Amino acid sequence: MITSGEALRALTERLRMAGIPSARLDARLLLAHALEVDGTHVFSHPERQLSEPEQQRLEQIAARRERREPISHILGRREFWSLSFAVTADTLDPRPDTETVVEAVLARLDGRDAPLSILDLGTGTGCILLALLSELPHASGLGVDISRAALRVAESNAAALGLDHRGRFAFGDWGRGIDGLFDAIVANPPYIPNQDIGGLETEVAAFEPRCALAGGPDGLDCYRSLAPDVARLLRPGGIAALEVGHGQAEAVGLIMRNTGLTLLGVRPDLAGVERCVVLSRPAVEAT
Ligand code: GLN
Repeated sequence: MITSGEALRALTERLRMAGIPSARLDARLLLAHALEVDGTHVFSHPERQLSEPEQQRLEQIAARRERREPISHILGRREFWSLSFAVTADTLDPRPDTETVVEAVLARLDGRDAPLSILDLGTGTGCILLALLSELPHASGLGVDISRAALRVAESNAAALGLDHRGRFAFGDWGRGIDGLFDAIVANPPYIPNQDIGGLETEVAAFEPRCALAGGPDGLDCYRSLAPDVARLLRPGGIAALEVGHGQAEAVGLIMRNTGLTLLGVRPDLAGVERCVVLSRPAVEAT
């Protein structure tokens, strides 16, 4: 028999040996998950004995993390915009950087009570659209993805967050086949240059869906592909907010401006990296 405190120490050491920088935090999260308790319980009850099934569960989880499977895939969840999202190997993990896209849209709105329509191209877990709907009580939206497995995850997130009456999800290739006009269009498309993917940390390179990362030779293929759809589907006066990778803001701004959209600005993330290109469609079309 081992105690919770002993298990925590041993797991921390094991993950550290595997080269995981956040070994201590990860060990606490994984132990809590194996014991089906919250993280503080692990600290406050170090003398708690682990049952045989709990030890087995912990061993399975530890081995997965040792192989660098992301914590989020093991726990099946990740927090974004202070909301809890289900994640799977079919969805890109919501990242804090992407909260910049949510902030960019909210910062441009006059009020939060309008019945806005929002389109999220390449929605994945649905995190951007659902975070926006959580802030905008009268808004509704459509999340599009080319992965049916991701759409199932997004739908389950909408239901779990009580937003499924305002958030719909549909299969699609960017905006192809979609009609109508949207007040806001958001996207976090794949933008990693293909040849750079192998150099990302193992958690990303080996476990996250390649189709959510790979942006072609220069990382910009998806922007070229979705630009005409954004220009066509954005209501005059509406706002588009697109996440971009490191050093891509200028090139993406140019791609989008070439479709007739107006560049409003570029918003940095918390690390100061230019992360979100913000665009509008002129309210009065030039003649
Ligand atoms: N931000 C992610 C990363 O750097 C990539 C997400 C994307 O391509 N949209 O790992």
